Amino acid sequence: MPILREHRGVWVGWAGSLEAAREPFLHDGLFNVPVPISPDEVENYYEGFSNSSLWPLYHDACQTPHYHRHWWSPYVEVNRRFAEHAAERAAPHARVLVQDYHLQLVPGMLRAMRPDLKIGFFLHIPFPPVELFAQLPWRQQILEGLLGADVVGFQTRAGAQNFIRLVNRYTPHRGVGQAIMVGQRHVQAREFPISIDIERFETLANDPAIIDRAQEIRAELGEHRTILLGVDRLDYTKGIDIRLRAVDELLKCGRHSVNDLVLVQVCVPSRESVDEYVEVRNRVEKLVGQINGEHSEVAQVPVHYLRRNLPIEELVANYIAADVMLVTPLRDGMNLVAKEYIACRMNDSGVLVLSEFTGAARELDRAVLVNPHDLDGMAHAIDLAISMPITEQARRIRSMRQKIRRRTVFDWANDLLGAVDAASSFSMAAGGATRESP
Ligand code: UDP
Repeated sequence: MPILREHRGVWVGWAGSLEAAREPFLHDGLFNVPVPISPDEVENYYEGFSNSSLWPLYHDACQTPHYHRHWWSPYVEVNRRFAEHAAERAAPHARVLVQDYHLQLVPGMLRAMRPDLKIGFFLHIPFPPVELFAQLPWRQQILEGLLGADVVGFQTRAGAQNFIRLVNRYTPHRGVGQAIMVGQRHVQAREFPISIDIERFETLANDPAIIDRAQEIRAELGEHRTILLGVDRLDYTKGIDIRLRAVDELLKCGRHSVNDLVLVQVCVPSRESVDEYVEVRNRVEKLVGQINGEHSEVAQVPVHYLRRNLPIEELVANYIAADVMLVTPLRDGMNLVAKEYIACRMNDSGVLVLSEFTGAARELDRAVLVNPHDLDGMAHAIDLAISMPITEQARRIRSMRQKIRRRTVFDWANDLLGAVDAASSFSMAAGGATRESP
């Protein structure tokens, strides 16, 4: 958002509710153009195709994706509406950045409407391997839609490579390295790992009121106990239930007890009208109940379950209070919580237990990395994190903080927009040369 403000850009988006504003409005120095979505479209385009076909498919099909033909045309329809709004508002030769899996047809549609524009696309979630993406009945349309962009950006190199392999297999276009020839155009497909505004988190973590609140949390939970923390949307991709079972194992085997260990698990409600999300909530809440029933003492419980969205100050206070951060998704595009925790550890203590299957694991390689499908491995990793010497904690935190400092969210945006400029001028030069030839 600050980058868009700086470039005096326009944000075209769905306001997220039916009652929201319909007319363009100025908010916090940013011009917003709302795109309306009807109740039927919320059901078929958003909850259906976006969140019950694409979301599970792109996350390694860790829940079975559903494919329904009556979800596809609303997806096309809403994508067209977004493309029309952007086409109407964009200045001549403007840069347009299309974001995420809900809008994968927009680049192609927008290029047909406005060939003068420079178009970038960024996928915030993982892009799946050939064998999985091949399931999608509309695979070719999605690939062609994305190829309307000058640059198609992914969180990881693996995602970009999957895309290029798929283009070679299912479209007439040819991709070599990071470049794909689409007619006269060069499309670039590569990774742009997203990050955080580290200075914002450091400022919050140095705020005396937030530090006091962190001390209060510690005192309330028990100074002598190791505090484990999980912060996730309540989503089946996040591996919350496996993490709970690993903590249960550590308590059951007698390695730890409720007197020396406590888990604070924040779960932000998410997509509550999708069946799989109701099921994951039930699973998580049942487990929390079982673990607390089995291991609590009268004045102490092992799991504090907070099902709500915390304000940023309270979230940072929890990051500061926690000795061990548990980030254990089955698959995650990046996972910003992992980076935020590192950014907030101003005294260089703390341990991050991180799933190998997150985009963040590429950069945060000094975390205790775990396979989230391996329950024994996860219990062992948490135990290792609890007992890690403070000097080793400091070495690891410092090394990871340096990496986050080197590439912030502002570098991400500048790299992506810079690549869009470079790729589109290259294509124009190539196209121009061809037009001049006999
Ligand atoms: N977050 C928040 N309040 C909460 C929990 C999380 O503001 O109570 C924010 C958190 O700071 C992070 C984002 O939600 O920036 C979650 O991003 P992440 O990439 O970890 O997961 P996602 O929800 O996008 O899958």
